[in-house]
Amino acid sequence: MRTFGVSRAFGDVPAVKPPSRAVHAGRELGARSPLAPDLSTAAVHVYTDLDDYDAVAKGERPGHYYGRNSNSNREMLEKAVAELEGAEAGLATGSGMSALHATILALAPRPATIVATRELYGGTMALLRQDFEPAGYEVHFVDLADLDAARRALAGAGLVLAETITNPLCRVPDLEAIAAIAHERGVPFLVDNTFASPILCRPLELGATAVMHSVTKYIGGHSDLLAGVAVGSATAIGAARARSVRTGTPLGPFDAWLALRGLRTLDVRMRRHSENSIALARAMQKMDGVARVHHPLLEDSPSFPVASRLLPHGAGGMMAFDLEGGRDAVQRMMLRFKLVAFAASLGGVETTISYPEITSHRSLTPQERAELGVTPGTVRVSVGIEDADDIVTDFAQAISA
Ligand code: PLP
Repeated sequence: MRTFGVSRAFGDVPAVKPPSRAVHAGRELGARSPLAPDLSTAAVHVYTDLDDYDAVAKGERPGHYYGRNSNSNREMLEKAVAELEGAEAGLATGSGMSALHATILALAPRPATIVATRELYGGTMALLRQDFEPAGYEVHFVDLADLDAARRALAGAGLVLAETITNPLCRVPDLEAIAAIAHERGVPFLVDNTFASPILCRPLELGATAVMHSVTKYIGGHSDLLAGVAVGSATAIGAARARSVRTGTPLGPFDAWLALRGLRTLDVRMRRHSENSIALARAMQKMDGVARVHHPLLEDSPSFPVASRLLPHGAGGMMAFDLEGGRDAVQRMMLRFKLVAFAASLGGVETTISYPEITSHRSLTPQERAELGVTPGTVRVSVGIEDADDIVTDFAQAISA
């Protein structure tokens, strides 16, 4: 049997690099093994020996007994993402939000102060405000790019939550510095690494306690599944898994199968997404009608120094721009696109735009959006893997209207 990755010893052979891990992680190949995993849709497995069932149910023997507890496709995805992120354990759930929910509760099981980045994904903000605050948690939204503010906010906190690249303005907080402060203060540090993917950034290597992804986005990569994953220590992920099993949020086998298939090409996709997004950002800086372009690797981005250090291989496909003329101009541009589509998600092979005012940030008040820098002309772009010139041409002709 051959296994790959960093979490399992591989004789004297050094651990393979992330692009190779993406291709091989999570699988164990022996003679006559299927090279691509079989899809196991069984909700339940049959046993003939009570001791055997008991041992599997206790986790003392490998195997599966009931689909809510485990499934071979889900397990393969969990191991693969854990190996790729350099984690001990992984948990896959039905969407990014359930992975986040289970992990927050694993790291901060009792009401505590949660410090979260100010520029948080709107769905996460809604979860903290509408589910955690009523349950007795205190939530502070802080600009984590300001390390003095982070240091003050983390005193006495029970959890700090950041995103590798923020939504929609693509700022990159200094995860390494935040992790150092969190360690000093004894505060667990959870990172939503959805926008970067484990190819471009591995927050555990920078000192984070746990990491989650909306697998729906880059890891799946084809806009055809909903899934989430969380990785971290066996203890933290064990606690998240127990909650996910109790509340019935595990990922179904087919979505796990699709997500693993997506993961295999993650490295090549992230390279192309990264090349295309910076090409489009630079081209847009010269387009009439575009007031501002947001990309962490543009020299005028406030995140440029940190992003250049933390994302040396590129920043993925996410960027944003402010269109002069607000909502009406955005609507006019949308009607002229030939290639680009409006879609309220991201991370697929195709270039899409979304409009934060009515999508990711719709739960915020106009004033809150303005404070974050999200204007009525702000458009978020998930740059796909098409030819860069074709993408630039489509934006140029649509905006020139
Ligand atoms: N985190 C980020 C950064 C996201 O963009 C999203 C979804 O857009 C989520 C989490 C939630 O993931 P899901 O839709 O898979 O539940």
